[in-house]
Amino acid sequence: MNILSKKNYVLTVCFLSLACYVLSQDLSSVSGLKNYLKSQETNTQKIVKVITKETKEIEKPTFSINKTSFGSFSKDIKHIRAKQLSVENQLYGLFGFDKNYSFAQMSPITDELGFVHTNYLIYYKGYLVDDQMIMIHQKDGIITSINGVVKSLNDPLINIAVSDQQAFDNAREGIAVEQLVDIFPIETVFVRLDGDVFRLAKKVKIFSIQPLKKYYAYIDAHTGKLLRKISLMYCSDVEGQAHTYYNGMQLITCDHDDGVYKLKDNARKIMTYNGANWKGNDKEAPPENLIYTNATANWVDEDMRPALQVHWGIEKTYDYYLKVHQRNGYDNKQAPVYNIYNPVIMDITGKMFNASALSGSGILLYGRGGLDANGVTYKPLVLLDIAAHEYTHLVTSRSNAGGLTYFSESGALNESFSDIFATAVDFYTGINPNWLLGEGIISDRPFIRSMSDPGSEQLLVSYRQPDTYKGKYWEFTGKDNAGVHTNSGVQNYWFYLLCQGGTGTNDKGDNYSVTGIGMDAASKIAYRNLMMYLPMSAQYIDAYYGSLSAAKDLYGEGSQQYKSVIDAWYAVGVDSLIPTPCKGEKRLVAIETAGTFTDGSGDGMYKKNSNCSWVIKSVADKIIQLEFVNFELEGADNDGSMSDYVSVYDGATESAPLIGKYCGNILPPLLKSTKNEILVTFISDKSVQKQGFEVRYSAVVPTSINNLNLDNKIVVYPNPTSEQIFVSFKESQSAVNIFICDILGKIVKEVSLSQVYTNEEVNINVEDLPSGVYTLRVVGDKLNTLHKMIVNK
Ligand SMILES: [Zn+2]
Repeated sequence: MNILSKKNYVLTVCFLSLACYVLSQDLSSVSGLKNYLKSQETNTQKIVKVITKETKEIEKPTFSINKTSFGSFSKDIKHIRAKQLSVENQLYGLFGFDKNYSFAQMSPITDELGFVHTNYLIYYKGYLVDDQMIMIHQKDGIITSINGVVKSLNDPLINIAVSDQQAFDNAREGIAVEQLVDIFPIETVFVRLDGDVFRLAKKVKIFSIQPLKKYYAYIDAHTGKLLRKISLMYCSDVEGQAHTYYNGMQLITCDHDDGVYKLKDNARKIMTYNGANWKGNDKEAPPENLIYTNATANWVDEDMRPALQVHWGIEKTYDYYLKVHQRNGYDNKQAPVYNIYNPVIMDITGKMFNASALSGSGILLYGRGGLDANGVTYKPLVLLDIAAHEYTHLVTSRSNAGGLTYFSESGALNESFSDIFATAVDFYTGINPNWLLGEGIISDRPFIRSMSDPGSEQLLVSYRQPDTYKGKYWEFTGKDNAGVHTNSGVQNYWFYLLCQGGTGTNDKGDNYSVTGIGMDAASKIAYRNLMMYLPMSAQYIDAYYGSLSAAKDLYGEGSQQYKSVIDAWYAVGVDSLIPTPCKGEKRLVAIETAGTFTDGSGDGMYKKNSNCSWVIKSVADKIIQLEFVNFELEGADNDGSMSDYVSVYDGATESAPLIGKYCGNILPPLLKSTKNEILVTFISDKSVQKQGFEVRYSAVVPTSINNLNLDNKIVVYPNPTSEQIFVSFKESQSAVNIFICDILGKIVKEVSLSQVYTNEEVNINVEDLPSGVYTLRVVGDKLNTLHKMIVNK
């Protein structure tokens, strides 16, 4: 939740002399890399193995991976019964990696269902590729699925001209902080920027108290520029027998020693502090003397009520995770939690009213509320659902992948999981269980977020969220870490529908109907997805994949739970992201001289959301000829735009010249490349499926004839023309179709003839066509040609 991101701090300038940690390691050798990797170990997972090409030959993959443009993928490979080592040996081949890449296998995690989850980090020339990961899941020694986010780096510049000290100084300046809490080690990593550009950067952690900021800053290793900053604070929006602030009298656990009662739950390791004198330090527990105390076990002091509220709330949240998910503490190792209420140091103006969790520690901060810049008054940010929301940020940071990057879609998912489990805790305690968050927190609105109606008109406009992926209220700008508190509404609504069920029409106009599976099953699926399947840079498509894997593990593929997960993602518009692999090989490299391939659907319709490509390659002195023998795709729209189409490129990649783009049911002409390779791609959207296509390819000797006018079976004249055009046939044909298409590919004239005879001329009136360039396609039983035609008036 977030209020603070929308408000400017008064910046107080303080000075602190700084020393800088300098990392220098020899990364040129495998052992150097190994040592370097070891130094990067986190406290939860260790690197157990480094995989480099030198240690084994590249193995030919036994299955293929279909990635989205972001690099997200998920593949169920249970049926091939692969062992971990065998898939490890195929990693280079699967992702098309060369010897510049290496992998680090992290220590595996075994879950309560007996699945073993192993993550692999990716390195390019010895440098970690930040936020990219391969996750392998297995049961009984057999791999069930593999998923992750992997994107090739495309030969990035490696030039380190910036020292760690410079990077540190630039990060401090870029984040605009003066007084730092601590100095952290600096890593050199590849960071991915917009447009899929990877830059080598120094990753600098900045933690400042005045103003309160905690970030990773990525400083370009070559230029020293601040490339990106990722927030490490997960902010909240609103914003014993204990008299709590919102929930009346509740039972709490507190410490009793020598006549003094403390807000200290020794069993759960939850301590609650008065933030008035806290100095701000996330490296160690706040001083013991700041813990709230009382003379009796009956806590009724009015001023203490907000603190009592969070103490109780975190106890309930702890119990929820323990009872429902068998999770012992946010890190599952019972790390202590430090609640700090009213940490006045956070804002020199004394208006600290937000709530937030500090990444990397067990510290949760709760503001006392107050008046914001827009004149809205907030009560203390200590509601049970806010406490549970913040606690869940700590849980998320300890997921199998190491968290969800607090930026863009991964940040929105991070926020959404906090809302999901906050709601689940509300239902668990049974105190006012509903689908609203932050009820009664602000002065003139009843709540600050709704899971069941994310865009509710009862919300302040700035708190409204989308219920459809990229639908109404979706935040497309970079604001608020690229929309983390807004775009979370999509998964929130997914969760609501999954629990409760519902019907409706989403912003994309799709009608949906979801059968609810209840809070228990829905929250177990969400929890397992978060913990075991989501890579750090997860997008909505990864949440889709991971939730299905989780539902499959827990309830089976034939279950209602599995079906409802799919239906609920359809309801929120995420299904449109799913690339459906064409059956068979995605990438066909033909070394034989001829063959055929199809869209992969056999006799049936092609798949929705197909995104397939085939590369045909021959020996060096030949070129590739393509002959479409069947072709039936959805036609172009009136404006000429194509939703399902085949593209052919004169080369092996999409950056090669486009030979043509085809849709509808007219056979494309005979096509030839100019080199020894050709790329065919097939894209379909989610609506309207047709029979598809079949194409014959052959390696032929190059000729100088333009492939658009390959044969002289017909003559077209006059060209240019103003009134009519004649098509003269050199030999008899049956089932002749003549099409004239405008420059957008839209058919403007169509003539069908069951038979034409040798030397017959067919006359087509083009008087009504505006001046311009057209294509004239003639298809018969023995020909298929394309001509350029100009109408000139
Ligand atoms: Zn949050």
